Amino acid sequence: MHIGFIGLGNMGAPMARNLLRAGYRLTVFDLAAAAVASLVNTGATAAPSIIDIAQSDVELIITMLPAASHVREVYLGEQGLLSGVAPGVRLIDSSTIDPMTARDVAAAALQQGNPMLDAPVSGGTGGAEAGTLTFMVGGDNTDYDGALSVLQSMGKNVVHCGPAGNGQAAKVANNMLLAISMIGVAEAMNLGVSLGMDPKVLAGVINTSSGRCWSSDTYNPYPGVIEGAPASRNYTGGFGTDLMLKDLGLATEAAKQQKQPIILGALAQQLYQMFSSQGHGAMDFSAIIKLYSGEDQ
Ligand code: NAD
Repeated sequence: MHIGFIGLGNMGAPMARNLLRAGYRLTVFDLAAAAVASLVNTGATAAPSIIDIAQSDVELIITMLPAASHVREVYLGEQGLLSGVAPGVRLIDSSTIDPMTARDVAAAALQQGNPMLDAPVSGGTGGAEAGTLTFMVGGDNTDYDGALSVLQSMGKNVVHCGPAGNGQAAKVANNMLLAISMIGVAEAMNLGVSLGMDPKVLAGVINTSSGRCWSSDTYNPYPGVIEGAPASRNYTGGFGTDLMLKDLGLATEAAKQQKQPIILGALAQQLYQMFSSQGHGAMDFSAIIKLYSGEDQ
């Protein structure tokens, strides 16, 4: 199968490389020439523009872009995909954006005969490299079935979440909970340690008790508790504070549109905003524990 791929950043480039490894023919485009060159070195063909991808003989186009404004531009812009793509070509957007934009773009695509899936991912750059991403997919059943083997070349878990936009709905709900649970674990670890607990012993108790969660047992924010976690390498690598802040913005915006209260989510957004404004935007999001320790402020 011939696939077009647009957006070769931290996530898109390793995902595209995994498609090449799986034997797909790939034509790629990114605004950054260096990103395109690196993919061409591993066997992809470069397209000079988005419209060139749309008008090539691709059967499927995947996009992995920073935010909703880029997705609108790439699909709906004057020189965007929908202005030139042949009916029947399938579209998958794996960017993390708000569910409403995902639904708008999918509806516009479908209207001109291009089935579209939203398929945001979780698993970070490590998961993208290893091909172990989780895909949360929104769209029609048949389109989902048709895309499954391509998505499985880039990910380990592929979950059909319902109609268009539901992949993004699952992603914003999950990441909002992740932010809340990370802040909760940071608060609990700091309290326990201030009361005299050894952090490793405390984490061991939490992780075999009812407080256990991914933020405590896999990604504990307390330094030295989990070898290999960003907390044990001064919060470098991992999932950046500003990326988490972006996802919390999507959650609060979606909640506003649904008139749905997200009290802890909104509080988490404010805490991450404060932490970012203190100059910590590039640090892993588990560094939020510094708000409690007072360190580095
Ligand atoms: P990135 O900024 O590294 O890459 C985005 C790429 O899109 C860049 O190479 C940029 O040049 C390209 N681009 C932007 N506008 C374009 C346009 N008009 N035409 C062509 N190319 C264009 O971002 P990333 O880290 O790869 O993240 C991509 C998406 O995945 C985001 O929505 C992000 O929230 C989500 N995500 C990221 C992670 C992570 O850990 N980085 C994890 C899960 C999900």
